[in-house]
Amino acid sequence: MQVDYLLIGQGISGTFLAHELQKAGQSVLVMDAVNQRSASKVASGIINPVTGRRIVKTWMIDELMPFAREAYQDMDRLLQIDCIAEKDVLDCFSTPQMRLAFTGRYQEDQQYLALPADENDQRNYLHYDFGYGIIHPCYWIDLSLLLQRYRRHLLQNGQLLEEKFELAQLEVKDNEIQYHHINARKIIFCDGVAGFSNPFFNRLPYGANKGEALLVEIPGLPNAHIIKKGYSLVPWKEKVFWLGSTYLWEFDNDEPSPGFYQFAKNWLQLTVKAPFTILDHLAALRPATLERRPFVGLHPVHPCIGIFNGMGTKGCSLAPYFARQLVNLLVHHIPVQADADVQRFKRILSR
Ligand SMILES: Cc1cc2nc3c(=O)[nH]c(=O)nc-3n(C[C@H](O)[C@H](O)[C@H](O)COP(=O)(O)OP(=O)(O)OC[C@H]3O[C@@H](n4cnc5c(N)ncnc54)[C@H](O)[C@@H]3O)c2cc1C
Repeated sequence: MQVDYLLIGQGISGTFLAHELQKAGQSVLVMDAVNQRSASKVASGIINPVTGRRIVKTWMIDELMPFAREAYQDMDRLLQIDCIAEKDVLDCFSTPQMRLAFTGRYQEDQQYLALPADENDQRNYLHYDFGYGIIHPCYWIDLSLLLQRYRRHLLQNGQLLEEKFELAQLEVKDNEIQYHHINARKIIFCDGVAGFSNPFFNRLPYGANKGEALLVEIPGLPNAHIIKKGYSLVPWKEKVFWLGSTYLWEFDNDEPSPGFYQFAKNWLQLTVKAPFTILDHLAALRPATLERRPFVGLHPVHPCIGIFNGMGTKGCSLAPYFARQLVNLLVHHIPVQADADVQRFKRILSR
């Protein structure tokens, strides 16, 4: 079987790369082993334009957010789904200092921040002591719907192999790669944290980051907004909310932990006035990088091998944008922007 590109992984990265390559007229085959614990399956799916205690804009958000909105709408049209929704974040202040930080930033820049007309209007549903601010626009991506439906689309077109890729079976030639009966011009690894041990790229400065979440049924809570108060409570499916998360750079394993479960349950008791039922407890490792920038591009020594990884905490906004950049490199020879291009690690990857 001959294809232009063999992609390893169908998380949000492999999904957008496959889509962009096909839009550019390239043939693709995707290999993905089913893994319910991949980052894309556990993520809440939020695109939030601001971050941190100082509520600063996230990296490149003015370009990333409009691009992502278009890209998800494009997926909606292709797959006949509705996978993107605009949802404001109600940022409930846990301390007077947080209130001050928010109102201070609001005075400086109102692009993504607003103050409510009546900051007591959530008191029927929530406990909060120091008021709240509004972050908008934010987007919620229904990742499970998108990934499932894109997977079905690939399967229907004979473009997906649901099996584990074994690196030992890869043969790298001058102008192509071979894997069993598959010949491809290039192979691109979109394999998330599994790729951290790939010998072609294992010298890159990765930093896996563990996150956990609960899925909680709360029939009495309106689902119009995302509630943030330390953790985020994200309207997920009918009456079900996603609650998370932790950001751990050090951890013993990637399993759901009793400690998080207890903290999150306490949070629900202290924050939400309606009765709730915990349905599930999820955990995954984010494919993060030490400099918090993705790894996009071709191996400096093996140009038939590429990487699309390192989306960290922001796969929903980074994957669509940098998939387009990677396709521009592969098809039109337009370089990836320098701070995302994996060629910035040419020296260590060439050793
Ligand atoms: C708790 C939590 C909350 C998060 N919330 C958000 C959020 O709100 N917004 C946001 O933007 N990001 C969020 N993220 C981050 C986001 O999940 C990641 O940035 C993104 O999912 C990474 O996608 P990926 O496709 O690169 O990797 P992955 O999702 O890990 O996908 C890799 C795929 O490759 C497959 N694979 C790996 N090795 C092989 C192999 N050898 N053979 C075959 N298949 C293989 C895996 O099965 C998997 O399907 C969150 C992450 C976590 C853990």
